[in-house]
Amino acid sequence: PVRVRFAPSPTGPLHMGGVRTALYNYLFAKKLGGTFVLRLEDTDQTRFVPGAEQYIVDSLKWCGISPDEGISVGGPHEPYRQSERKPMYRQYAEDLIAKDLAYYAFDTSEELEAVRERAKEAGNANFQYNHITRNSMKNSLTLPAEEVQRRLENGDPYTIRIKLPRNHEVKFEDMIRGWVSVDTANMDDKILLKADGMPTYHLANIVDDHTMEITHVIRGEEWLPSAPLHILMYEFFGWEAPKFAHLPLLLRPDGNGKLSKRDGDRLGFPVFPLRWENKETGETAMGYREQGFFPEAFINMLAFLGWNPGDNRELFTLEELVDTFTIAKVSKSGAKFDFEKAKWYNQQYLRKHTDAELADMLIPVLEAKGVAVPERSILERIIELVKERAVFVEDIYEEGHFLFHEPRGYDESSVKKKWKGEESAAIVRALIEAFDVEEFSSANLEAIFKAYLNDNGIGFGQAGPVLRISITGTMTGPSAFDMMEVLGKEETLRRMNKTLS
Ligand code: GLU
Repeated sequence: PVRVRFAPSPTGPLHMGGVRTALYNYLFAKKLGGTFVLRLEDTDQTRFVPGAEQYIVDSLKWCGISPDEGISVGGPHEPYRQSERKPMYRQYAEDLIAKDLAYYAFDTSEELEAVRERAKEAGNANFQYNHITRNSMKNSLTLPAEEVQRRLENGDPYTIRIKLPRNHEVKFEDMIRGWVSVDTANMDDKILLKADGMPTYHLANIVDDHTMEITHVIRGEEWLPSAPLHILMYEFFGWEAPKFAHLPLLLRPDGNGKLSKRDGDRLGFPVFPLRWENKETGETAMGYREQGFFPEAFINMLAFLGWNPGDNRELFTLEELVDTFTIAKVSKSGAKFDFEKAKWYNQQYLRKHTDAELADMLIPVLEAKGVAVPERSILERIIELVKERAVFVEDIYEEGHFLFHEPRGYDESSVKKKWKGEESAAIVRALIEAFDVEEFSSANLEAIFKAYLNDNGIGFGQAGPVLRISITGTMTGPSAFDMMEVLGKEETLRRMNKTLS
């Protein structure tokens, strides 16, 4: 059975790239009837940010990506927070020492720093702790056995490092990138267990993926350099490695580099699903939800950052994505993020909603703004008229605010272009009289208006804008006659009269 996991570290809010990783894992699992696990990789206590775990859980929930197992839901492999699994990791590292595949290292951080400095001076910017250099360091491979024993008993701080073989080619087939091969000469004897007894990411990750019976690891491209080490670790432990799929990077809109957590503020769009606030530092960042995005639009957009169904369909619900998604159609190259496209998706989803549904969503927005909520049937008519212009629910109000209340004023450029003093006033005066009819319907008002133009030899381009300005204060908006019908006779004529004063 397929088992995948999303394994974020609670070092801050979940970036949209992280949400995409979670989404692809979820889609892959659901399509194959598998299990989606949510595991928290919180072994690096120096980078722990309070509130981040809850943020991750809330974000996935908002997106409709529900874990089958893991933090917030539980399951047979509890606990799912690595910090709570701490006692189990040491044994695995020590097992490797017993097999001569790992060793104790006693080098202090000052000593390591000094070695790095010397390497740099010698023109080698990248000191590697490996089969060449480990021989001159303080570890259980170089120190006499009694000395090692003495240090351990003495409680001297140590780390456990993996002992990589010399000039060994590590090869594996990535589901997206194909064959990847790296020589151990270019790798490091990475630390597995830290001096404080905490496992490093590498050890905890491999032990957990194995014990949680993960079959496929789907994660961001930034982890590709770690994959050869992980493959070797599976070999060392004598475990079967899961299949790996490394997802393409999300790029900035200009294609210039990776979309980072800081880009949101700089480029003016959110890079996080939900608004974020760090209670300790007061730092905040905007979120898709608070900008007015529908979660359905957000995940549909995200799914297409690095994947497409191979035809020109673009609108997919989460269920449809589950049916259609395959790793084979995930691209190797980075995916350029486009905020305009994100808005396009939202607009498509807004249009899928009925006027009644949009009314339910708009009412709290109006209430929050202190705008009087019109009678239900009128509200739905307004929505019908304005929704074509809206990307977000809030836009319905912004685009048609003059249908909810008195215009905010007269739009200067409209007036300047189209309002010709007494000539325009005369048109409004005549129309007030003509519109004083029983049947105040859009069709009837339009017929009356056309008859007026005909009888007086006035062009539409002259009178149309004048009529609009007198009613809404601006030249743009839905059909003037539709708006008049919605406003009703009394309000329409009141506004027209007011224009004259
Ligand atoms: N904890 C890692 C992260 O924050 C997980 C990497 C992986 O999936 O192996 O992205």
